[in-house]
Amino acid sequence: MVEPQRPTLKIGRCLFFILFFLGAIAPSYSYVLTESTLRVPIRWSSSNLQINVDTSANDFDPSKNIFCRHLSLSLQATCTARASTDINEVLSLWNQASPVGITSNPYSANRLSFSSDPRFFSPGVVAVTLLSYNPGDGIIKNGQIYVNHQTNPGFCFTQSKSAMGCVYLGDVIAHELGHFAGLAHSEVRESTMLFTSFRGQHGLHQDDVSGLRSIYHATAFGKIRGRVLGGNRVPVFGAHVQAISLKTGDVAASALTQENGSFVIDGLDVEHTYYLYTEPLRKLDSLPDAFRSAKNTFCPGSYVGSFFETCASQTRGQPQAVRLSSSQSDLDVGVVSIRCQVRVSPTYLDAKLRTGSGVYEFSSQPSRPISSFVGYYSSTEIISSSDPDEAREDLIKLDLSYLGDLPFGSTLVMKILSTAIGSPVDFSVNLSGPFGSLTDPDRPQVNPNPGRDYPPPRTETSTLRPLFQRQLSYPLSATGSQNLLDISLAPRALDAYEIMMTMPDSSTFTLKDRPYLVMFEIHRGNQVLYSDLGGRISDNSSCIDAPYTFAVKANNVSSAAMAGQQEEAGTSQVAGASCGTIEPPNSSGGSGPASFVLGLLLIAFLPQKIRSKKS
Ligand SMILES: [Zn+2]
Repeated sequence: MVEPQRPTLKIGRCLFFILFFLGAIAPSYSYVLTESTLRVPIRWSSSNLQINVDTSANDFDPSKNIFCRHLSLSLQATCTARASTDINEVLSLWNQASPVGITSNPYSANRLSFSSDPRFFSPGVVAVTLLSYNPGDGIIKNGQIYVNHQTNPGFCFTQSKSAMGCVYLGDVIAHELGHFAGLAHSEVRESTMLFTSFRGQHGLHQDDVSGLRSIYHATAFGKIRGRVLGGNRVPVFGAHVQAISLKTGDVAASALTQENGSFVIDGLDVEHTYYLYTEPLRKLDSLPDAFRSAKNTFCPGSYVGSFFETCASQTRGQPQAVRLSSSQSDLDVGVVSIRCQVRVSPTYLDAKLRTGSGVYEFSSQPSRPISSFVGYYSSTEIISSSDPDEAREDLIKLDLSYLGDLPFGSTLVMKILSTAIGSPVDFSVNLSGPFGSLTDPDRPQVNPNPGRDYPPPRTETSTLRPLFQRQLSYPLSATGSQNLLDISLAPRALDAYEIMMTMPDSSTFTLKDRPYLVMFEIHRGNQVLYSDLGGRISDNSSCIDAPYTFAVKANNVSSAAMAGQQEEAGTSQVAGASCGTIEPPNSSGGSGPASFVLGLLLIAFLPQKIRSKKS
C-alpha cells in the first residue's frame, strides 16, 4: 500500500479503513489486533483516548433515517433525543468495562459523526472507522468514525434494543469504538468486535476487554501460549484458539495462530483456570488480510473444534485445565493438536451407542479432586427442539466421597458451555444427591409455556436475547460419604428462532454437531474449596491428529495485489466484509486514490450477497 522505496515512508501516514457491515443476525469471534502494513499492531500512544462525540446528537439528521423521516417534526425530535441517549449509554458502558478510557472532548481532532457521504457508504454499510497511523511503529495519529445516516435497515429509535428489522445504534457505536482503539474483527461468538450486528453487542465481551488489555497493558495480565500443529508436526496457520474461563463458564479471550503455529492468548486474569478450545476460522473475509489464506482441510474434510487435553485424557473426555497464578502468569502449554473428530470417553460413547445415553463417571482423587467433561451429540441425534429428549439424556455420576467431610454450606457449582462455541443445544438438568432431586435450579420454576415441559432460558433484559449459558448449584452434605451425585442432562436442539436470536451470522458460526463442556467446582459462599487444578501439563506431541495438514503462508496483500483484487471484485459476487488499508485521497503517496476506490468497491458488494442469501 505504501511503497517501500518512497522516502516518505518513515513519516508517511496510512489510513486504515475499517468497515462495519450489517448482515443477518449472526454468531461471534476472538480478539484480533489491527496491524499496520508492516504487521505492527496499531495502537494509540496512551490508554486515555479523546474523541469529539456529539452526545447531544445535533449531528444526527432524522430526515435521513428511514424510520424517522416520515414522522412529524416533533416526533423526529424524539429520534434525535434517542440517538443522544444511545450514544451516552454506550460511552458509559464502554468506560465501565474497558481498560481503555474514551472521553468525549469537543476540542479533539478525533471525531464520531453521522454522515451520508457516498464515498464511505453503499447500502448495507452501517459505519466506518478511519485511522491514520505511522506504519513503522503503528502509533495512531487520528481517528474518524462515520455512522451512516441512511443505513437500511435503519436505526431503532425506540426504548427497546430488541426491535426486529432495525439496528440498535449503541451496538454499532460500541463496535466502532473497538476499531478506534485498535481492535480488528474477532471470531469469538458474542464479542462486540464480531463483524456484523447482533443483539447485545453494545456491552463489551471479555474477549474485547482482553484484546484491549493486550494492546495497552500487556505486562499486567496473564498469557497462555503454545503451538498448534497437525499431522507430521506441520504448523497450522490461522487456527482460532479460545481460552474458556472456569470461573465465568464463558470464553475469556482468544488468539489466531501464526505461520509457525504459535499463539499467545493475552490479557487474561490470573488465579484463574482455563480450558483451551481450538477450531478453524469461519469468516476469512472479515479478518485482517494476513489470515485470508488460512485453510481447514487437514482431515478428511475440515478439522473440527476440540478441547485441549493430554494424550492420556483422550480416553476420558476430560479437557486439560490450564491454571494461571501470580507466580506463573505466562504459561506455555506446548503442542496443541487440531482434531478430525470431537474426542469423548470411549465408555461414554459405548453407553450412548447401546442405550442412547452417554454415561460419565468420576471419582475424586488427590491429584484431581474435581474435573470437567466433554459431551457430544451429532447433528442427527437430537430429534426435538420443542421438548428435552429424555431418551438421549447424558448422565454424569460424581463420587466426591474421597474429599472427606466438607464444611457446612458447601455446594457443587456446575456450568455448561454450548452456544458460546456455536453449539446449538440446550439442556434440562436434574441433579440428585444427598438432598434429593433438583431440576434446573438456575431457571424459573414457573413455566409460562404450558405446551412445553422445560423451563425457558433467562433473557437479557434490554434485548430479550435468550441466555443459554448455564450455572447451577446443588448443596453438598457435610458428611463426605453422602456426596454421591447423579446429574442428568436431557438435550434439546435449539429451534431456528432461538438460533437467530442468540447467534450472529448463524449460517457461518453455528456448528452442525452439538458438543458441550460441563465444568464443576465446589464452593462455600464465594470461596472455592475444590477446583480443577490441571496439574503438570503434558502436551499433544505424541498424539497429533489431522494427517493431511500442509503448511500455509500468511496472505501478503501488496498494493499491486489489492489493485488486482479491486478488478476482480468489480466483476464477481464476492462480498468483502473487509478491512482494507488505504491512504487518504489527499496524501503525498501517489497510490492513495486507487486504494481508496478499492475500499469503496469492497463495501459495494456486501449487499449483493445479502440479497442473494435472502432470495
Ligand atoms: Zn468492523
